Amino acid sequence: MMRRKNARMGTRKKVHTFVRVKPTDDFAHEMIKYGDDNKSIDIHLKKDTRRGVVNNQQTDWSFKLDGVLHNASQDLVYETVAKDVVAQALDGYNGTIMCYGQTGAGKTYTMTGTTENYKHRGILPRALQQVFRMIEERPTHAITVRVSYLEIYNESLFDLLSTLPYVGPSVTPMTIVENPQGVFIKGLSVHLTSQEEDAFSLLFEGETNRIIASHTMNKNSSRSHCIFTIYVEAHSRTLSDEKYITSKINLVDLAGSERLGKSGSEGRVLKEATYINKSLSFLEQAIVALGDQKREHIPFRQCKLTHALKDSLGGNCNMVLLTNIYGEAAQLEETLSSLRFASRMKLVTTEPAINEKYDAERMVKNLEKELALLKQELAIHDSLANRTLVNYDPMDEIQIAEINSQVRRYLEGTLDEIDIINLRQIQEVFNQFRVVLSQQEQEVESALRRKYTLIDKNDFAAISAVQKAGLVDVDGHLVGEPDGQGFGLGVTPFSAKPGKKSKSKKTFKEQLSSSARKEGASSPVSGKELDVSTSKTQLTPSSKEGDVKDMTIRERETSSIEPLPSDSPKEELRPPRPSTPPPKPVAFEDFKNERGSEINRIFKENKSILNERRKRASETTQRINAIKREMDVTKEALNFQKSLREKQGEYENKGLMIIDEEEFLLILKLKDLKKQYRTEYQDLRDLRAEIQYCQHLVDQCRHRLLTEFDIWYNESFFIPEDLQVALKPGGSIRPGMVPVSRIMSLGEDAQDKFSQLQQVLLPEGPDSVAFYNAKVKTEQKHNYLKTMMGLQQAHRK
Ligand code: ADP
Ligand code: MG
Repeated sequence: MMRRKNARMGTRKKVHTFVRVKPTDDFAHEMIKYGDDNKSIDIHLKKDTRRGVVNNQQTDWSFKLDGVLHNASQDLVYETVAKDVVAQALDGYNGTIMCYGQTGAGKTYTMTGTTENYKHRGILPRALQQVFRMIEERPTHAITVRVSYLEIYNESLFDLLSTLPYVGPSVTPMTIVENPQGVFIKGLSVHLTSQEEDAFSLLFEGETNRIIASHTMNKNSSRSHCIFTIYVEAHSRTLSDEKYITSKINLVDLAGSERLGKSGSEGRVLKEATYINKSLSFLEQAIVALGDQKREHIPFRQCKLTHALKDSLGGNCNMVLLTNIYGEAAQLEETLSSLRFASRMKLVTTEPAINEKYDAERMVKNLEKELALLKQELAIHDSLANRTLVNYDPMDEIQIAEINSQVRRYLEGTLDEIDIINLRQIQEVFNQFRVVLSQQEQEVESALRRKYTLIDKNDFAAISAVQKAGLVDVDGHLVGEPDGQGFGLGVTPFSAKPGKKSKSKKTFKEQLSSSARKEGASSPVSGKELDVSTSKTQLTPSSKEGDVKDMTIRERETSSIEPLPSDSPKEELRPPRPSTPPPKPVAFEDFKNERGSEINRIFKENKSILNERRKRASETTQRINAIKREMDVTKEALNFQKSLREKQGEYENKGLMIIDEEEFLLILKLKDLKKQYRTEYQDLRDLRAEIQYCQHLVDQCRHRLLTEFDIWYNESFFIPEDLQVALKPGGSIRPGMVPVSRIMSLGEDAQDKFSQLQQVLLPEGPDSVAFYNAKVKTEQKHNYLKTMMGLQQAHRK
């Protein structure tokens, strides 16, 4: 039969199987033959030896194992079977050695040996000796050894070392527990042994208990499974390594494998037989499942034996099976069955792996050391970079509050920049930005809620009701708020001092968003976020219907008065001019959102077109280069073909040169490439022209944006308000487009007059200011109209 190859063959290892033949004077020479390699064993059954039973059945079997131990000393058995497994356990590999076979075949002799005669000691005492010897050879490691001895009889667990003093949890009855670290038996005493002698005492104690139990409890020791376990734990003494290794060696003396209960056994014997047969057949099932790599589930929990050995069968262990057989003809049937078990075991593969664990306490200590070192390192870096006394500790509440205040001042514009100190501080700054932002969002929302009723934009019934009430105009825009409260919106009394500019009537939405932007000078909430028409809910004044209608009419009146300079409700939206102008970068952002938004939009559009063309040009260039490279290659190939042809002598047919197909194809290819090259090149030229043009546009736009900004900036923060009034009338001349010098010169007469008047009349007191303002304004208006009329006349001509 073909055996499947395992994909992970490299790391996998077969279970090692050995057979040990019990010495006998009556060895069945004709039936049992050993191979010369000491690894195979052939069994021949005479047809007539077992009448009926094996008639017409197979009579010859051949088994190939890892070694046949015939007439082997205890010493040799240990060397062959156990030595490597034990040695590897000290390096962190789990190991399992099991003895299988019918009662009397020598399992106990192999495992424990005779306790009276040192020479005939078995694997257990030898393993303990090897472990302690190896520990002596490794002074670099602190290695501890623990031992436990478990017996499983009739599906019950017995602690063969329970008679010894033991400090630990005693749980009765014992239970098999699984955890991520593996399987362990709760209630089983595990004894620390610091020297060989102690370990031997434990072993003898266990053996004695085994024998006593068989008398007092009337149990047959060949009917029980015994598991002697050596636990090893190794910590490095030299390295402060938090890693350490653990391993365990399981030495298993199984119950007799002979088929029992066939011939009318009763009572206790029948019960024993049933349990043994069951547990051994479950062991076999588990082993078959382990050998079948398609099997996902291994039935370990069917009996105590396989459950207790769950992490010692297959898995990551080094595993050895030793089959004890008789060499006598009378036992041949059981011998055959034992050898079959061994050959099934051979199919099992394991994946030995080191059991590494982490010592949490040591790990923390190492990390603390590392941390201290890194802090020192940081301090050195700081002093080299002339940064003194930077604190890298987590921030306390006061420090966080300070950062919060910095962020607020930054947003208000009173703080120009926030100095970077360290990573923690940067993270906290961002954190506080988030805090401030969400606070402000909440404030805005609750302010809105105090003032307005929110309607779901998808609730058409509500919207139409509101429309009927005249609160929403046809486009779904909401009309203004009547009482002029909140957000500084609303209608200003006609008599109030007019602002400096007037524009076409704004919808409520625009007013709201532009006013929000003005507020935004001290808050990061942009006008966009406040743009109610794009959000799911709409705002409706909660005030009385009449007021609203009134308001609408007044708004219309207002707009009809335009372009007269006064009375625009927009005027009062502008907050009083700050005593110190804002920094230009901040103002520029405002400008781009307000007055400069249109130019900015065009500027951005042009820029994106330019970028797109540039990208295309670069792609085309790449393509051209690729074509060029291919052309070069083709040319070279063509030259090579040509030289080949010349060397071989040219053929001519009626004056025509004859070339081979390869050369012909190359010529065609080159022609095609040249064509592509020309097309792409043409494209690139066109693109470059476009890019140049777009670049020009972008530059123009930028220039325009900046110029307009400068004008706006001067006008908003530097030019005296009275002077600006001169620019207002008509609104058809965009004030921003008039250079400051011209603004200054416009209406010079009026200014002169104003100054003169002021000089004459100001002594009357501040009450006179409104008067003079009105006077000057009227004169300016006339002045303006005169100019315009003059211009129109000039135009007609
Ligand atoms: P099992 O444990 O398989 O039932 P034992 O180990 O108890 O069998 O062996 C039965 C008897 O045979 C014991 O008296 C033991 O000393 C003896 N015996 C078994 N194997 C050998 C061997 N290889 N050399 C000498 N005596 C052996
Ligand atoms: Mg035995």
